[in-house]
Amino acid sequence: MSDERIVPYIEGDGIGAELFAAARPAIDAAVVAAYGSRRVLRWLEVFAGQKAMDRYETWLPADTLTTIRTHRVALKGPLTNRVGPGSPPPINVTLRRELDLYACVRPIRPVPGAPTPVKHPEKIDLVVFREATEDTYSGVEWASGSPGARALIETVERLMPGAVPADAGVGVKFMSPHAAKRLVRAAIRHALLHRRPSVTMMHKGAVMKQTEGAFKAWGYEVARDEFPDTVITQAELDARFGGRVPDGKVVLRDLLADTVFQQVLLKPESFSVLAAPNLNGDYISDALAAQIGGIGLAPGANYGDELAVFEAAHGSAPQYAGQDRVNPTALMLSGALLLDHLAWPEAAEVLRSGIAATITGGIVTEDLARGLPGTRGVSTRQFGQRVVAQIEGTH
Ligand code: NAD
Repeated sequence: MSDERIVPYIEGDGIGAELFAAARPAIDAAVVAAYGSRRVLRWLEVFAGQKAMDRYETWLPADTLTTIRTHRVALKGPLTNRVGPGSPPPINVTLRRELDLYACVRPIRPVPGAPTPVKHPEKIDLVVFREATEDTYSGVEWASGSPGARALIETVERLMPGAVPADAGVGVKFMSPHAAKRLVRAAIRHALLHRRPSVTMMHKGAVMKQTEGAFKAWGYEVARDEFPDTVITQAELDARFGGRVPDGKVVLRDLLADTVFQQVLLKPESFSVLAAPNLNGDYISDALAAQIGGIGLAPGANYGDELAVFEAAHGSAPQYAGQDRVNPTALMLSGALLLDHLAWPEAAEVLRSGIAATITGGIVTEDLARGLPGTRGVSTRQFGQRVVAQIEGTH
């Protein structure tokens, strides 16, 4: 009897449909190459974004959430954030909040054969843990002149007169011990499990003391209270271990966000796991994706304690929708993370190798072809077909 897993998927907006058309067959081919008929992935489409609105007149149907809760995993395409009067709150934010997917995780390492803008891409190998439920990013905001903004400004005025102009638009930045601690806990556990030597908390605590500064302090509390034997501080590392992280231990340190942006370019090898509040994490994830060759190569995962939703780091690129020219690699690599999560690592490895061999062989989409003189990009569909052929031909 075969081991069968049902994987709900959300095609998403913009370029989502063409990405799935290229990525799903590659993921399927990797499962077949690794396990024959002993393991089977069954895809189950669920809806969000425009496709959900067209069918069910809602951006995020309750059924979509229920189905993901039932099967505990999903692969998701990008969803466009609508702006303007009457637009819904960001669907991605709602999805993460409803499913309590609090850690947005982005592994960043170069893809063999892909051109990058840096001299030593091989020095980059890190994982970003971005808190995904709090911070200014959470959609708690009111428009300039709205009743909500006025009410909030009146309250602030009583506490801190003159702090906020009366006609300002207002967004609330909030960080709680619960959310900060579980994010740093997840980052530390990941580092210990995958034998990564350090976790660096990235913050702007020198200025935003009660939110980002507190994030850092709560992170150190988690280390002290829950990992007394395995996590050490930078000071302990220097004093007791001569600067070398001993096997089985992780050093927890913190750096100001602006310094992190400099250092990931100047000394990328000094980072292993980054733990960041929502907005910092968003910025640094995309900046790091650029360092390894672009957003078309960067996979991601959103983890809660029970559920995991995998998705590419990029958005719906509406200007390219339907043109068959974007890169499906990030979605394919998100599929590899999904396979790892299902404890099907052999299939994940086959998929990653198939992608690497295809790109190393000079078969790339337009975004990468720009960095490879003499190479003409292939279409999204052709790239997908070549990855499938690579997987089928070599295994
Ligand atoms: P984007 O990531 O869609 O595009 C940014 C740039 O990257 C563009 O130049 C685009 O052409 C390029 N790009 C993106 N994906 C690519 C791929 N697979 N291959 C090659 N090039 C690619 O970001 P944006 O334009 O700021 O956002 C578009 C929409 O997507 C917005 O509504 C945004 O809110 C939304 N968004 C959604 C998610 C998500 O669903 N997780 C993430 C980011 C942005």
